[in-house]
Amino acid sequence: MRQAGGQSNPPMPTDTLNIDTILAQAGCKGDPTTGSIVDPPYLTTTYERDADGSYPRGYVYGRSDNPTRRSFEETLARIEEGSDAVAFASGMAAISAVLQALNPGDHVILNDDAYHGTRSALSTVFRDWGLAFDEVDMGDPENVRSAARPETRLVWAESPSNPLLKISDLSALAGAARSIGAHLVVDNTFATPVLQRPIPLGADVVVHSVTKYLSGHTDVLGGVVVVREGLEMLDRIRHIQITCGAVMDPFSAWLALRGMRSLGARIRVQCATARQVAAFLNNHPRVTRTYYPGLFDHPGHRIAQHQMADFGGMLSFEMEGGEEEAMQVASRVRVIRRATSLGGTESLIEHRASNEPAPTRTPPALLRLSVGLEHEDDLVSDLSEALG
Ligand SMILES: *Cc1c(COP(=O)(O)O)cnc(C)c1O
Repeated sequence: MRQAGGQSNPPMPTDTLNIDTILAQAGCKGDPTTGSIVDPPYLTTTYERDADGSYPRGYVYGRSDNPTRRSFEETLARIEEGSDAVAFASGMAAISAVLQALNPGDHVILNDDAYHGTRSALSTVFRDWGLAFDEVDMGDPENVRSAARPETRLVWAESPSNPLLKISDLSALAGAARSIGAHLVVDNTFATPVLQRPIPLGADVVVHSVTKYLSGHTDVLGGVVVVREGLEMLDRIRHIQITCGAVMDPFSAWLALRGMRSLGARIRVQCATARQVAAFLNNHPRVTRTYYPGLFDHPGHRIAQHQMADFGGMLSFEMEGGEEEAMQVASRVRVIRRATSLGGTESLIEHRASNEPAPTRTPPALLRLSVGLEHEDDLVSDLSEALG
């Protein structure tokens, strides 16, 4: 964006920077007319034509393109090591666009504890639309090969998964997908690109609920699809974005960029605190099971150690005494807030099964915890009192 001949510094090197450095200056390309450090949100819905009818600056109408949305998309493509990104009004709009890029009759293989919204879209809207799907345990990539059909187009994975924090080996899944002629899509919402980048591991597509860690402050709904270099599906996804119109609005894109500037630092603190909280829960006599990939006895611990920079800020646990006791614990917290969603600065606890449409596979005694930025001692003592 910087104009030649100005007084600005030379542009930052692009290939060699650490992700934290790219994130710290997200949405700060610089404005040569004012020198402002932070780029403004371009809230305009339309752009002026020249007298000859041309659009020399390339922008025509707000649904088709917007500089703030574009800046968000370019940042996502860079930090996920993809070739391009397409931003949507929510995570589900992003997920739906990938599914809409398929044809009726196509088949999808989904991880067996996928985000309930993905499963629900596939079992209602997209089933009616002619897509078939099967769910498999992706802990073993062989299960993907066994579920393959000639019309299988996508293998859809989440690692860590929501809400059971299951880990799958993304390189192995990419190999399995390739061997059956399908693309691998990874929902990277729980890990974020700070902890895990699926595209260099072999994934074709990454999706995010931007609503969660990326924006990070519980005040933005958004979603994004990132694609690897050379993926022909990109054109179709871009066409769906512009034509169907579930676009990320410029103010949300601006807020998401603002939130992402602190993503590296936030994730580091959230991982460190989650580790402490997981250790506390794992040793508590009334907790029957703690799901956190950082625990040595988690079945995916070794793979997580290999493919993630740290184990994340999400964990789940099951209470002795079942659903009733889990609800009681949630009712007694005073620092942690009772709500769905995750990835914000405030810790959130949720009785997951009662918030998912039936039939759900989430254990009734399970509570999910999104660890925020509060001091770890306050979170542990809050849980300690709530657990009794
Ligand atoms: C929240 C979530 C989604 C859906 O995102 P929205 O922004 O709520 O539409 C998809 N995948 C995962 C893993 C999520 O946690």
